[in-house]
Amino acid sequence: MTQSITILGATGSIGRSTLDVVSRYPERFSVHAVAGGSRVEPLVDVCLSARPKRAVIADASKVVELEQALCTVGLGDIEVLGGPEAVSRLADDPDTDVVVQAVVGAAGVAPTFAAARAGKRLLLANKESVVCGGRLLMETVRNSGCELLPVDSEHNAIFQCLAGATEKARAGARIVLTASGGPFRGRTNLEGITPEQAVAHPKWSMGRKISVDSASLMNKGLEVIEARWLFGVDAGRIDVVIHPGSVVHSMVQFRDGAVKAQIGTPDMHLPIQYALTYPKRVPGVVPELDFAALKVLTFDVADDETFRCLAACKKAIKKGGLGPCAANGANEEAVKLFLEDKIGFLDIGRLVEAVVDSDSFGGEYTLSDVYECDRMAREFVRAHL
Ligand code: NAD
Ligand code: MG
Repeated sequence: MTQSITILGATGSIGRSTLDVVSRYPERFSVHAVAGGSRVEPLVDVCLSARPKRAVIADASKVVELEQALCTVGLGDIEVLGGPEAVSRLADDPDTDVVVQAVVGAAGVAPTFAAARAGKRLLLANKESVVCGGRLLMETVRNSGCELLPVDSEHNAIFQCLAGATEKARAGARIVLTASGGPFRGRTNLEGITPEQAVAHPKWSMGRKISVDSASLMNKGLEVIEARWLFGVDAGRIDVVIHPGSVVHSMVQFRDGAVKAQIGTPDMHLPIQYALTYPKRVPGVVPELDFAALKVLTFDVADDETFRCLAACKKAIKKGGLGPCAANGANEEAVKLFLEDKIGFLDIGRLVEAVVDSDSFGGEYTLSDVYECDRMAREFVRAHL
């Protein structure tokens, strides 16, 4: 039977790689609906290749333009909707079995929760929603029976390493997240870095926001928080190691000292395909690893003295509550300003750390508290330029 798939963030890097995998297995998957942010042209391209029944554009002012563009290419029968609520409604549409959540940023919180509440199989790339509302999200997932499969390569790797481990073995394990180190690995002076330098990742081709996050190691900080919630492991049992080859996607060290690592060609098609076909494995779209060419695997410590975003995320998860949500909101706003050339690269870490230091953040929270905290963190950044 074919699975009916909805892809949120379909025009992005993860969205397009997902479409690529899905298109190779037409007997397994059909695309029910797609959503994009604000650009009409790439969404039309996605519709041309995936032929969904519905297309949503988060920027509601673009609905008419999208409808007209789809009519022009002979796709006038696709139902078009607009606005952020329509994106979330796609996530809990009864006509879809699988939701691929590849929206970038905290805009992904609402659709992630919608898919989780609806008990879908949720293929989650949008780490920001786990960071913002981790405890609440995991409760929702437990209560609804949602099947959450991580797409982020490190978390997908850990998921594979933990397969078959008992509850007790999982509880006693350490998680080792690998980080490529980004374009500024080894540097202790990050003065004067330009947006072009920051988005030029040495190993992965990704969206601009996550590329800057990788350069500042914010991405790794977000991933520590993501791992804490996805795998129910205290942050004190999660380590980060620099591994420039990006071949070891992450590891789990068990109590007896045995370490399981998931190794593979660094290509997001692999974790996406595994999540799509789980628990089955089907022939890959990625070249096999050539160990003779690889020869060595190297590891190093992560420098959170220089890369303050990583230190700030560790502090945020220690504080608990909405601390991580504030760190994420401040980062998103700061990255936006950095990409617009309005602040320097080092300001990102400074602002994220400042927001984390500005409050105690402890305690229980609701989903509306998450939205409010995200808004306040962005305001904090604009007020502290
Ligand atoms: P991207 O910038 O390439 O794509 C983002 C997608 O989100 C686009 O389709 C865009 O139109 C859509 N979007 C933006 N704002 C939106 C909104 N308000 N509502 C609905 N859709 C909106 O980003 P990406 O690199 O594909 O990353 C997507 C997510 O996956 C991020 O959370 C990122 O951290 C995570 N991720 C990406 C990679 C990667 O290799 N690219 C790896 C691991 C995790
Ligand atoms: Mg990752």
